[in-house]
Amino acid sequence: MAINAEQYHNIKLQLAEKNVNLVAVSKTRTVEDIKALYDLGVKDFGENYVQELTDKQAVLPKDIRWHFIGHLQTNKVKLIAPFIYLIHSVDSYKLLQEINKQADKNNRIIDCLLQIYIADEETKFGMNEEELDFLMRQYNDSEMKNIKVIGLMGMASFTENVEKIRAEFKYLKSLFHKLQTQNSKLKIVSMGMSNDYAIAIEEGSTMVRIGSLFFSE
Ligand SMILES: *Cc1c(COP(=O)(O)O)cnc(C)c1O
Repeated sequence: MAINAEQYHNIKLQLAEKNVNLVAVSKTRTVEDIKALYDLGVKDFGENYVQELTDKQAVLPKDIRWHFIGHLQTNKVKLIAPFIYLIHSVDSYKLLQEINKQADKNNRIIDCLLQIYIADEETKFGMNEEELDFLMRQYNDSEMKNIKVIGLMGMASFTENVEKIRAEFKYLKSLFHKLQTQNSKLKIVSMGMSNDYAIAIEEGSTMVRIGSLFFSE
């Protein structure tokens, strides 16, 4: 396996034009491949398994900003709390409380995104609108000093149907706008992957999470 530098440069230009941030998704990729992308200038990497993330973090450059994008179990939070840059996948108040507790132990403030279920596939994690509203109310009333909720994350359905994907991203962006009126700290909408990042950008993504396109077999 190797990295696809040309593809990276292409995408980097498209994102720069629209002011969209990139997280390079490096799950299942080797430390060597991550280092090669890092040497091209990538500083933000996303992983979705805690063990894999901590193994890689230990040996890769310390200025990498690690994003956690997978399903996070409360008992694993302590393992990433010392260094994690942004957690994209918060889906319960209990998890938020645990992140706050572990961030406090590490004297840090950890930024978090709330994961919203926008697809119609059973395998995707995240909250629905009602759960989101409930969690935001609990969060706004709480005094958690060591976390900051700064946006939303979502994954569209895995389909060729562009209009379906577009509608799902539009919905996520509309939830974001609604919440922004209550909490002005919200600034990130993390949506768009290799297959659908162009649609996500058209629908107002501020952060895409791209993996496969950067790597070639
Ligand atoms: C794997 C993954 C990505 C990247 O997917 P690609 O299709 O490889 O770009 C983005 N977000 C999440 C949550 C993922 O698990």
